[in-house]
Amino acid sequence: MPETKLEIRSKVDQFPLDDQQTSSLKMLLRVCRNTLDKVDEEMIERAFRLCCMSHQSDLRASGEPYYLHPLEVAVIMAEEFNIDDVSVAAALLHDTVEDTTVTLEEIRKLFGADVMHIIDGLTKISGVFENKNTRQAETFMKLLLSMAEDIRVVLIKFADRLHNMRTIGPLSRQRQLNKAMETIELYAPLAHRFGLFKIKNELEDLCFKVIDPNSYKFIVRKLREKREAREAFIDEFMNPIQSELQGQKFSFEIKGRPKHIYSIYKKMQSQQKPFEEIYDLFAIRIILEYPHTKEDCWRVYSVITDWYTPIPKRFRDFISVPKANGYQSLHTTVITKKGRKVEVQIRTRRMDYIAEQGVAAHWKYKEGEVNDGKNGSEQLDKMLHWVRDVLDAPRPEAATEFVKDFQLNLYQDEIYVFTPNGELKTLPNGASCIDFAFEIHSEIGERAIAAKVNGKMVPLRQKLKSGDQVEIITSGKVNLNPDWMEDVVTHKAKARIRQFIKQKERKVANQGREIWEKRATRGKVEISDQEITQIAKIFKFNDAQELFYEIGSGAFDVNQLYKRVKQFKSKGRLDQDETEQEKVSLTEKSEEMTRLARSAGEGKALLVEGELTDVKYSYANCCNPIPGDHVLGFLSRNGDVKIHRSNCKNAHHLIRTDNERIVEISWAKNIGTQFLGGIRVVGEDRVGLVNDLTEVLSKSLQTNMKSINVSSEDGMFEGLITAYVNDLSHLEKIIKRLERVEGIRNVSRYE
Ligand code: MN
Repeated sequence: MPETKLEIRSKVDQFPLDDQQTSSLKMLLRVCRNTLDKVDEEMIERAFRLCCMSHQSDLRASGEPYYLHPLEVAVIMAEEFNIDDVSVAAALLHDTVEDTTVTLEEIRKLFGADVMHIIDGLTKISGVFENKNTRQAETFMKLLLSMAEDIRVVLIKFADRLHNMRTIGPLSRQRQLNKAMETIELYAPLAHRFGLFKIKNELEDLCFKVIDPNSYKFIVRKLREKREAREAFIDEFMNPIQSELQGQKFSFEIKGRPKHIYSIYKKMQSQQKPFEEIYDLFAIRIILEYPHTKEDCWRVYSVITDWYTPIPKRFRDFISVPKANGYQSLHTTVITKKGRKVEVQIRTRRMDYIAEQGVAAHWKYKEGEVNDGKNGSEQLDKMLHWVRDVLDAPRPEAATEFVKDFQLNLYQDEIYVFTPNGELKTLPNGASCIDFAFEIHSEIGERAIAAKVNGKMVPLRQKLKSGDQVEIITSGKVNLNPDWMEDVVTHKAKARIRQFIKQKERKVANQGREIWEKRATRGKVEISDQEITQIAKIFKFNDAQELFYEIGSGAFDVNQLYKRVKQFKSKGRLDQDETEQEKVSLTEKSEEMTRLARSAGEGKALLVEGELTDVKYSYANCCNPIPGDHVLGFLSRNGDVKIHRSNCKNAHHLIRTDNERIVEISWAKNIGTQFLGGIRVVGEDRVGLVNDLTEVLSKSLQTNMKSINVSSEDGMFEGLITAYVNDLSHLEKIIKRLERVEGIRNVSRYE
């Protein structure tokens, strides 16, 4: 395919059409002119040419040229839905990206972003539709809503299926049955939910024809035989009522269409009755216009029953007692003088409107719990209303607005995303790839190292949006990072990360306990856990565990504990006063430190590295601070200062539990020494990658590496590098430079 927009365009425009194609194009343009408000004929023609060009070597199962299928789908779009020319163009191209060499990018260049998004949506939806797990109507509904960022995607999908069902003949019996079952189970109910009753009825009849051809043919023949008689009968039935109601100054509309074939069949089945008893049971609907009220419905009822004899047991008053879904109407079945039964439904325009919304109401009733709150359902009502509006009375502004309105903010609280094999996952709004990983399996979450969203590598913390297809790349080992807590919203992910942090704390606490036990053995003291807990409380820890954690993390000096235990053992009790004294002396010390700090630096903070000779300090292993990081010092009881990064979890713990021992710290300007910095590199594995990484560090950045650990799996590469760095800006420079290495997707600091 050529590169530029103009080149592609001229290649498509010059594609020669044969006579049949030329007349097809003329026919399509004529249909569009008749049904659409405004037609970009150049765009339709170009779409048609690309359709013919890309499918030129394809044939349908019938042996016909393939282009006839997209052509017919486009005609259905124009005739049945008549939304706009964009949807007609997209219908012409609906199979190109999936089945031919045409790319989305080419579609965008030729037809713009709208057509491209529709084709993209259709391509995404294709696998998902056939997924058996999505057969639950509710999931299915949500799926479509999330996929269809644009209603046109769904409508083209229906048109496509309708045409495939209309032309199902040449397929094998087995394939016909599969398609028909799928259509009747998935598409027809969905069409119903969207209020697309015409399409739904045709789809049902087409399926019925495949599934039970004999019954279908039987009903068709019977209907044909009875047709004239039926029409005459309806007229005859309605005439007296119509004039009586007009005489009484009712303003109303009468609807009396025969049922479609499949619904006659269903009635025959469910009522176990022969065709003759079913076929003439037409529901005639009398809709009273505003401002008629429910009392007027009763008046109409009495007019009808003056003429015809009602069957008492077939009377239903859904006005006084609406159906659970809010449906209101009077139903009565009457017998004519000649003994025929007719069902009559009487309702006001408002009730009819609610009845039309019954799909949504039904959905609300059954699945109301799922979306908790009315918002989604109200929006759904609105959507169904919109769909019907557009289909019944296509007005240009309405149609355009409709398309815009359907930008699927229907469920603002939830998003719907997909696994690589098209399985639907529902997540709360704001969920990230990490949430998604935990949603699939806690092990996937723990081992996640990177994610692909719609085929592109992204950081794990990236937020997802409806319609995203997400793949999680995992490592062989647990990679869970406590910092993820900031990037997750689901309960599942939060619980697991919290559990992980707890486990880690427990490990540190166990180390602390070992340190203490060694010290105790060396100092020959023995003490029970209960006594330790008491002493921990004196030091203002909640329990022994917390005390041991502080020792394990290096924040609390074990000798301090030892001293106190010795004292406790010799006196046989704990000396509260002495503890108080110690606290005072600690405060003094802290003040002294601050004084020292003031004299040492120009500012109020303690300056470290080189200029701070009077104070012993060291760097915490948990966060390995380097110059440039925001840091704080923690004054231990023997006067040392432990320096943590201020975003370190341990530092946060210290701030919470022992705020008064925190010392402000800042870095001196010129520091001669080097620090260890950790860098995590994730990318696609390839030959020579490690070499390239080390090259970049040593040659272009003159940085010495201490270690590099590499693991790779499934073509993904993860490297953990420790390097000697001068300060934060040096580390950041390394990260930036490594990001540019070919195949590298993510570079971050790690501790
Ligand atoms: Mn198709």
